[in-house]
Amino acid sequence: MLELRELVKYYRAGEGELVRAVDGVTLEIAAGELLVLYGPSGSGKTTLVKMVAALLAPDSGSVIVDGREISALSEHDAASYRLYELGYVAQAFNLRAGGTVVENAASKLWLTKDVRRAERMVVPLLERLGLGERLGNLPSQLSMGERQRVTIARALSVDPKLVVADEPTGSLDTQRGEEVLELLRELCRERQIAVLLTTHDPKAAAFADKALELRDGRLGAYESEAGQAERGSRPSRASERAKPSAGSSGRDLQR
Ligand code: ADP
Ligand code: MG
Repeated sequence: MLELRELVKYYRAGEGELVRAVDGVTLEIAAGELLVLYGPSGSGKTTLVKMVAALLAPDSGSVIVDGREISALSEHDAASYRLYELGYVAQAFNLRAGGTVVENAASKLWLTKDVRRAERMVVPLLERLGLGERLGNLPSQLSMGERQRVTIARALSVDPKLVVADEPTGSLDTQRGEEVLELLRELCRERQIAVLLTTHDPKAAAFADKALELRDGRLGAYESEAGQAERGSRPSRASERAKPSAGSSGRDLQR
């Protein structure tokens, strides 16, 4: 569903110094698969996610979604891709303070459907996300975990094939964070959505079908201490499958 091929984005910092924010990333995510991209702050997660969302043009390489080259889209087609095909969940919730839970969750659908129909459509999803009692509440009346679940409802409202979630648990405590990850994983399976989720929390990898690590813009296998310990006995599903795709191997993590 999502394929990145040798994706590159460099920035010029002050003094003309080159920052290799994303430095040749190749990976694939199938429908129904959740990939966790673990990386510390500054490792290139947001830069990568923005390229997948067609918010930032790569210097080279490809972003292919459902067989289509995303970086080649016109502004108009990129906007429509973001609206209808992509669900974007970010650490910053970007909820409208004056809008209720239902109104915020339905805001993407409003652009194409009448308000009542849009709101009817998101209610089952909000219920599924445990917000059934909160439909008329304002964001200020919600916990952080509830706010993040509203953004998930908004992202999933358009029935996307691909969801990118950039540190969606970054503002949440451990328990709320795990609840959000669990829900994302369930919904991804149920609806056969490909999910790319970034995190700097090593524990999040436990929710992944596949976990990879980004360091200085380069991709490597995700190596948790637990994973290494486990490898001696029985590899976990995540660590077993945590191999970078061909093309990015052999030059990872050693910089
Ligand atoms: P992460 O999301 O993992 O924290 P980012 O993608 O935000 O990482 O940043 C990766 C690297 O690129 C960092 O060194 C950051 O300082 C640099 N960077 C990000 N955005 C810009 C920009 N607009 N101009 C220059 N450098 C940037
Ligand atoms: Mg970031």
